Amino acid sequence: MPYPTNMKEKLAIHGGEPVRTKPYPTWPMAGAREEELLLEVIRSQQWGGYHKLVGEFEALFAQMHDCEHAVTCANGTVALEMALYAAGIGPGDEVIVPAHSFIATSSAVSRAGAVPVFVDIDPETYNISLDAIREAMSEKTKAVIIVHFGGAMVDMDRLEEVTKETKLTVIEDAAHAHGAEWHGRRAGSFGTVSTFSFQNSKVMTSGEGGIVTTKDADLAARARSYANCGRREGEGWFDHYILAPNVRMTGFQAAVLTAQLEKLTDQIRLRQQNAEALIKAVSAPGVRFQKVPGGANVQSCYIIPGAIDEAEFGVGRDAFIEAMKAEGIPCSPFYAKPLYKNPMYEHVAHRTEPCPAAEEVCGTSFWLPLVSLMGSEDDAKDVARAIDKVHAAYKPVETGAGVAVN
Ligand SMILES: *Cc1c(COP(=O)(O)O)cnc(C)c1O
Repeated sequence: MPYPTNMKEKLAIHGGEPVRTKPYPTWPMAGAREEELLLEVIRSQQWGGYHKLVGEFEALFAQMHDCEHAVTCANGTVALEMALYAAGIGPGDEVIVPAHSFIATSSAVSRAGAVPVFVDIDPETYNISLDAIREAMSEKTKAVIIVHFGGAMVDMDRLEEVTKETKLTVIEDAAHAHGAEWHGRRAGSFGTVSTFSFQNSKVMTSGEGGIVTTKDADLAARARSYANCGRREGEGWFDHYILAPNVRMTGFQAAVLTAQLEKLTDQIRLRQQNAEALIKAVSAPGVRFQKVPGGANVQSCYIIPGAIDEAEFGVGRDAFIEAMKAEGIPCSPFYAKPLYKNPMYEHVAHRTEPCPAAEEVCGTSFWLPLVSLMGSEDDAKDVARAIDKVHAAYKPVETGAGVAVN
């Protein structure tokens, strides 16, 4: 039997033995500390308002992200609304956003009454293209929201050059980047105001939750007012100064997040070591992992993004993902389309710059979730073994007559 057919039969998707039968750890991960702090909140009988653990958590999170202030809230989506409100962005303004992100990055702009301007990403880093920011500028453009995709930071040195020149307000959507660093400085400390999400899949989580970070006390007070029914700190419970929702974080969430924060640094170290080992162990051609800019010395490793070059690897992205899953490796496609292709943009005002990289990435990319990095180094290397196995089965075959693609 010719070699490639033989290799194909070994794939789990064709009935062969999978690389892994043992599942990876599950996410989120909780232990005795989460339980202890949750019990404290239950017994305190202060289930609403701002429990003291909320304030303590805000102080810890701010300090860990090189900021003076942090304001918690119900989720990362509303955190972006708070940030935009705090930064004074509203009707008549345009805000530049990457076309390849979660919907909150752009929907928050519209909810603030401003207009999102979609720009392309860099196909190697998956982060916003800094050249595209310059090209998208109009006289209405007030701010840019950047996303540290997968937890690998945007080149903050180059971004600073761009924003100095353009006078744009920078908002970091750091939903993927808790604990990430650029030249030793933490994500969330570069923007005028920045946001994080604590949604279930994120690197620290309370199921739902969000936070705004800033070095500016006035901006923090504005964000707090927006999260808390338009109240002002130190003033009456029934005095409301701005039109705003109630999106306060509860003590239950702060209890879990306090415990999660205590583990974050060790978990990041583990993921980063395992990610390095995994990537080094891949020998198949045609798999391109996210390029991390040199200054991004700590990555949160929320996900490992990569792309498949079908011609080199031998099979396309979708078949690759199915084969990986059958091998016992969790793996999924990226966002299925650029944000502007969502049905909501048939009726929500926006502007779209050409985004060829975002369009392409949606069809070629995959991501490995953080759980594959939360076990041993050998567990992480199973991902590489599976990638190489899939390639070996599908690679283009050299024949006497030339190259035949099976
Ligand atoms: C998760 C996420 C958010 C916020 O999401 P919530 O579910 O509202 O917490 C914002 N931006 C990006 C890029 C995200 O991945």
